[in-house]
Amino acid sequence: MDKLKVAGDHFAKLVEEQMNRVEQMKQEEDPIDFSKLDKIIIGCCGGDGIGPAITEQAERVLRAVLKEDVEKGRIEFRQIEGLTIENRIKHMQPIPDDVLEELKACHVILKGPTTTPSKGDGPNIESANVAMRRELDLFANVRPISVPEMGIDWAFFRENTEGEYVLGSQGIDIDEDLSFDFRVITTQGVRRIARAAFEYARANDKKRVAIITKANILKKTDGKFLDICYDVAKDYPEIQADDWFVDIISANLINPEVNKDYEVFVLPNLYGDIITDEAAQIQGGVGTAGSSNIGNRYAMFEAIHGSAPRMVESGRQIYANPASMIKASELLLRHIGYKEEADTVIKALEIANKEVKLTGRDTGATGEEFANCVIENL
Ligand code: NAD
Repeated sequence: MDKLKVAGDHFAKLVEEQMNRVEQMKQEEDPIDFSKLDKIIIGCCGGDGIGPAITEQAERVLRAVLKEDVEKGRIEFRQIEGLTIENRIKHMQPIPDDVLEELKACHVILKGPTTTPSKGDGPNIESANVAMRRELDLFANVRPISVPEMGIDWAFFRENTEGEYVLGSQGIDIDEDLSFDFRVITTQGVRRIARAAFEYARANDKKRVAIITKANILKKTDGKFLDICYDVAKDYPEIQADDWFVDIISANLINPEVNKDYEVFVLPNLYGDIITDEAAQIQGGVGTAGSSNIGNRYAMFEAIHGSAPRMVESGRQIYANPASMIKASELLLRHIGYKEEADTVIKALEIANKEVKLTGRDTGATGEEFANCVIENL
């Protein structure tokens, strides 16, 4: 078969799918108003590796802080069991159909990390996260990072549905020497993440939004990202918008001369993935950071780290730090309108961080002991 024809057909199919996605984005619904709901359904999926152990602890904290509303029936917790790597491989689907239906019956989801086999490690199965972000249209990945003693208070708005990830498992090997992956940016996709970042800045009295790209190299996709962000910025004249290349921003984040001057960042998917791990490390490690994945209808809250398979192989999952998932729960509470409860959780978490020492092994406390301390201080 003619290689050029195969490649052309493959690309044409991808373009057609993406054109359909753009049409769907044009029909978007308004964001859900939680204050108008009689009942909010929180779905909990443990995921893989250390996921079930740390998600269980975060759910205990949530249940404790929401006790009254659970009893009144305003909040319902649902366990979603099937989002495991074994079940995903069994169905050869990143999210098996019945699990997706269960997820769609919830309003918000607390999700433990899920394993994605790398090339050569197992079947070529798409990341459950990437699939969930796409299926539930969770376009904004919001990651707050705060280090008060360094004057750092950042909010990262990572675009969650496009970039390198949307077609991440649909690249093509033309022959044994030549391979392509694809990167996608759309006007609609950038506009909604940029709007989310500037709205957040306005609502939280932030004065500056930094747009992160590599538009000098990736002129079409990052070029569009930059142009649309600046276009959205015109509606927010009180906020300073400026742009930075991703390489220099990764240096500036660890430069104490300048890092406290940044406030809100808006970034395409891959840069956001990398830069937020760096930012989390400045805060105290990936085990300390939570993130929200927000769309107009659904939202999912998780840790930013992965399933730490080596901790499980050496039987150390009970020592995994649940702070990241507890942070994720705090973001969940804020999202559904439980601001006071969110503040309570964050204060209790700060106390636990000081009082309970976790080392990731039996030289320190277990995740359960850590969560007990959070619950005692609610
Ligand atoms: P990882 O985040 O799982 O682990 C990196 C390091 O951090 C390891 O040393 C691990 O022991 C440590 N660590 C992570 N979380 C911790 C916690 N709560 N407490 C203590 N130590 C912790 O990264 P990885 O090894 O690159 O990825 C493992 C798997 O997770 C892969 O299959 C990857 O695809 C997946 N992953 C999932 C998500 C997600 O579901 N959101 C995110 C990233 C990676």
